[in-house]
Amino acid sequence: MRFITYNSRNYRDIEYMNYLPEEAKKEIDIVSSVIPFKTNNYVTDYLIDWENYQQDPIYTLNFPKKEMLTADQYERMLKVKDGRHSELEIKKTIYNIRMEMNPHPAQQMTNVPVLDGEELTGAQHKYRDIILFFPSQGQTCHAHCTFCFRWPQFTKDLDLKFSMREINKIIEYIRRNEDINEILFTGGDPMVMSPSELTKYVDALLESGVKNLENIRFGTKSISYWPFTYLPEFNPEANDILQLFRKITDSGFHLSLMGHFNHPNELDNEVVQQAIHNIRETGAEIRTQSPIIKHINDNSNDWARMWKTQVRLGMIPYYMFVERETGPYDYFSIPLAEVYQIYQQAIRESGSFAKTVTGPVMSADKGKVHILGVVDSPIDGNKYFMMQYARHRDYRKTFKPFFMHYHPKATWVDQLSEASIGTPAVASSVNDHNVEM
Ligand SMILES: *Cc1c(COP(=O)(O)O)cnc(C)c1O
Ligand code: SF4
Repeated sequence: MRFITYNSRNYRDIEYMNYLPEEAKKEIDIVSSVIPFKTNNYVTDYLIDWENYQQDPIYTLNFPKKEMLTADQYERMLKVKDGRHSELEIKKTIYNIRMEMNPHPAQQMTNVPVLDGEELTGAQHKYRDIILFFPSQGQTCHAHCTFCFRWPQFTKDLDLKFSMREINKIIEYIRRNEDINEILFTGGDPMVMSPSELTKYVDALLESGVKNLENIRFGTKSISYWPFTYLPEFNPEANDILQLFRKITDSGFHLSLMGHFNHPNELDNEVVQQAIHNIRETGAEIRTQSPIIKHINDNSNDWARMWKTQVRLGMIPYYMFVERETGPYDYFSIPLAEVYQIYQQAIRESGSFAKTVTGPVMSADKGKVHILGVVDSPIDGNKYFMMQYARHRDYRKTFKPFFMHYHPKATWVDQLSEASIGTPAVASSVNDHNVEM
């Protein structure tokens, strides 16, 4: 199968676009000038039910919709694209709307490692034992998710790209920081790289002989968005990828693909199941993660079906994330109280092997905040969220439960106030409170 991508300009080439009324196409044109839009023929042919596209979760995952902008933003965009405004005015409006959408959640740019005075801008070192590497050829995806918190990386005019080619500097940094035992290739999606590009990076790691490096991860949506990456009968390059995975595990590393799946429909067809099988045959593990997102997977049945199917296919459920405060956040966000209920119901129904999942988790400034439960205190009769850091910048602060005052509408931890003796049981619901434990 040939790999055809459709961006905001050429998506009208998709055969199924005939189903869409002109009004919907216009919405796509308007909204996709703000939210990066890219899809491909696997997503449109295998994953979307075009008869019911308006309700289809994968359509919403991939295609920009009017409601993803505020009414005001949509109007401004519509007006400036009426044919009577200059390119510059259009660009300005796009830029301003993007800036209203919180393009830097959780201070991504503050974790850049430094080697001999040089900032390694293609990497992030936030947690003691793991470094993130953003290979420059992997800073796109086979298709783009409408909710993506890395969306600024896909736009040309925001100066937020971080990536670099010099793996050798990263290797030297790992060598000098003995606590690091793991490297995570991320993006975008590192699996959009050609096998030869990926092999170059991996060989450098394998040949470096850095003793403290034990685990290699690839964060990827490719299993769901382009499974042909792992299917030699469709794509001859797949053999090179599978052989590379085999080489990594044969060299004594633990290799894990961090597979991004948002909905059980992504796991239904034979192509994706064969891809999962082929990956696992190389000795690699597949761990799965996804945010919980309104209009896409905001019910426990979808999660239970997703986790059960993942387990049956040999994958390991790993993280359930809370959607970050960025992009079309109003459209996608769900109150934490509701998120927790969905999680609780889903995990009860999912069986033994789904218990490996950590969730729900918020990736916040200081670390990953894990919601452990909603507690009715037998002591003061008030309701609390019990939480802990599953990851903290300072590892000594991990796995130490604490309480936050409950609020039914809060969508992020910084809208809650910390519970301690003497604090009033009201949510501050302002962005000035950061949890520090
Ligand atoms: C989530 C994350 C990791 C990986 O954390 P795990 O809990 O090991 O999956 C590493 N670095 C950053 C910056 C992260 O956000
Ligand atoms: S696959 Fe991941 S990085 Fe790529 S668009 Fe989707 S959420 Fe963003």
